[in-house]
Amino acid sequence: MVSNGVIWYHLKLLLLIKFKVIFFTMENEIDIRKAARQLLEIDEFFAGDFTLRYQQDPEELTYEPSAELVKLAKEAASCTRCEPGQSRAKLVPGEGDPKTRLVFVGEAPGADEDAQGRPFVGRSGKLLEKIINAMGFMRQDVYICNILKCRPPKNRPPKPEEIELCLPLLHKQLEIIQPEIIVALGASAAHTLLKTKTPIGQLRGQFHDFYISEGADPIKLMPTYHPAYLLRNYSVDNRKRVWDDMQKVVAELGMKLPDKAKK
Ligand code: URA
Repeated sequence: MVSNGVIWYHLKLLLLIKFKVIFFTMENEIDIRKAARQLLEIDEFFAGDFTLRYQQDPEELTYEPSAELVKLAKEAASCTRCEPGQSRAKLVPGEGDPKTRLVFVGEAPGADEDAQGRPFVGRSGKLLEKIINAMGFMRQDVYICNILKCRPPKNRPPKPEEIELCLPLLHKQLEIIQPEIIVALGASAAHTLLKTKTPIGQLRGQFHDFYISEGADPIKLMPTYHPAYLLRNYSVDNRKRVWDDMQKVVAELGMKLPDKAKK
């Protein structure tokens, strides 16, 4: 015979579980709706009227690959000098037009990039591509890479010693490409390249001098917020800040924004 106390105890337990499930579902629905609205707004803001440009087959290369860059990537493919190098699925050396005037540098590959061996192909990559399109470029017109070429385990931030080991490869890539402007995406890339700890909020919005090596000519570097930061800390103001930074890059290159992107 089961006592009333035991029945009540189990009933209360069931009710509690049910409430938790309802609240969890509600919270998630709100998050999903909020994320969807943000994505739509960002999409509208950066998409402009570039549907034709989007239609280009991403598999079809529009540029001549650089034998030097390919050789660097082949050499790096056997590197296991750091933890990310030992745990990676694929090396993510970077990709794009080796004759470009504009290079984007992020922090390190994430899970999607690690699986495909290509930079910025996940959620923040999709946003980066929209920004690049809004500036009047195709993804293939620019070069996209990272400070670290391998994904840190569990997406943890790169360690200083890992950056030190990997940075010469980025310098060699930049020496080959010789871009006129580098966009540093996020604090990590900006701090590494400019050798400073000044907050990204203070660095962004103006050009800084970046030197590939001592005595080399300076390259203009524009720090801006990382697309992942923009997705996480979405606000109209942050979105406008990134867009202001990118407009300065387009102007510095002596180019005009496509009509629909003038907002
Ligand atoms: N974030 C980065 O910094 N780089 C990538 O390639 C993808 C996400």
